[in-house]
Amino acid sequence: MNFKLPTQIMLAMLFGVVVGVLFKEQTFIFSAFLEPIGNVFIRLLKMIIVPIIFSSLVVGVVSLGSVQSLGRLGTRTFIYYMVTTFMAVMIGLIVVNFIKPGIDSSIDLSLFSSNPIFEGVSHDVSFVSVITDIVPSNVISAIATENMLGIIFFSILFGTGLLALDVRGSSVKQFVEEFNLLFLKITDWIMKLSPIGVFALIATMVGQTGFAIFKPMAFYVATVLLAIIIHLLFTLSSILIIVARYSPITFFQKIFPAIATAFATDSSIASLPVTMECLEKNVGVSKKVVGFIAPLGATVNMDGTALYEAVAAVFIAQVVGIDMTITQQIIVMLMAILASVGAAGIPSAGLVTLVIVLKAVNLPLEGIGILLAVDRILDMFRTSVNIISDSCGALVIGRLEGEQFFDSEV
Ligand code: ASP
Repeated sequence: MNFKLPTQIMLAMLFGVVVGVLFKEQTFIFSAFLEPIGNVFIRLLKMIIVPIIFSSLVVGVVSLGSVQSLGRLGTRTFIYYMVTTFMAVMIGLIVVNFIKPGIDSSIDLSLFSSNPIFEGVSHDVSFVSVITDIVPSNVISAIATENMLGIIFFSILFGTGLLALDVRGSSVKQFVEEFNLLFLKITDWIMKLSPIGVFALIATMVGQTGFAIFKPMAFYVATVLLAIIIHLLFTLSSILIIVARYSPITFFQKIFPAIATAFATDSSIASLPVTMECLEKNVGVSKKVVGFIAPLGATVNMDGTALYEAVAAVFIAQVVGIDMTITQQIIVMLMAILASVGAAGIPSAGLVTLVIVLKAVNLPLEGIGILLAVDRILDMFRTSVNIISDSCGALVIGRLEGEQFFDSEV
C-alpha cells in the first residue's frame, strides 16, 4: 500500500494513541525506545532551523527587489499578525467569561505553590528584555542560545544589506540561494521520517501522561479548546475565504503535515521546516513570501498562545475569587498579545511568558502551578493554532502580492 504523507501521518497519530494506551504499564518501552526516537526527530528538525531561517529570510528579502517592497510586506504582515492575535484573545476572553471554568472549582492554589517545576517558570521575564534581545550583541551566541528573534533580525539586516548593495550576479546571493536549496532538500528527507517521529511522540505523550489528570481541569481544558475552535472556524477561515480566496478545507488538507508536526512537537520553531515546505510545495505560495513570513510568524505570531494566556489569566482570577473589571481584562488582553510575541516557539514557552500577564494585573504567580498538569496537552493545540495562523498569513500576504496558488479560488 502506498499512502500519501498526510495519510501516513494521520495513521501514525492514531497508532501512537493506541500504542500509548495499550503499553501504559510497560514504561520501559517509552523510556528505552519511543521517547528517544521522538527526541531524535525533534533534534533533526531543530538542527536545520538556523540555516533554514537565515537562508530563507535572506533569499526572501533579496527577491523582494527593493527596500520599499520589504517595507510594504513588513507592514502588511504586522497588520495581519496584530488583527489575528487580537481576535484570538477577544474570543478567549469572551468564552472564559461565559463558561467561567474557575468559579466554584475545588482547586486549592496553595497545593501547587511549592511545585518544583513552578520554581522554574516563575523566574522574571520582562518585556523590555524581550525587546532588547532582538538585537544580538553576538551572532554566534544568538545561534548558540537559540535566540530566534535575534537570528531573524540579523538575517533581515543581512538580506537588506545585500539588496542595498545591488551587486548583479552577486556570489554571496548565489551562495545563500544554493545553501537554502540544500537545506530544503534535507527538510524533504526529514519529512519522510515524520510519520515515525509523530508516532513516537504521540505514543510517549499518551503513555506517560494518561487522561486522569484532566478531571479537575476538564472545564478549563474545554474552555481553551472551544475558544480555539471558534478562532479557527470563525476568524481564520473567514480571512482565508475573504482575503486569501482559498478554501479552508483545502488549506487544512495541504498543511496537515505541518499541523501534525506542531501537534506532536509542541514547537512552532521545530515545525518551521515542515510548514515552509507545505506552503511552497503544496499550496504554491512563493518562496519570497514564505521565506519572509514563516520564520517571522513562528517566533512572533502566536494566536494560540495569546488566546491561551488570556483564558489562563482569567481562569486563575476566577479560582482565587477575584472578579476582574473590564479595565483589568483589557490589560490582560494587551499583555497576552505582548506575551505571545515574546514567547519563543518552543514547548511551554507560553506558560513562562504568562508571568508577564499575571504580574500586570497582580494575580498570584502560584496560579501557574495549577496549569502545569494540563500544559503539555494544551500546548499541542495552541502550537497547532500558532502555525495554522502563520500559514494563513502566508496565503493572505501572497494573495495581496498578487500571487496565484495551485488550487482554484473560492
Ligand atoms: N509551544 C508554543 C509554540 O511553539 C509556544 C507556547 O508555549 O505557547 O508555538
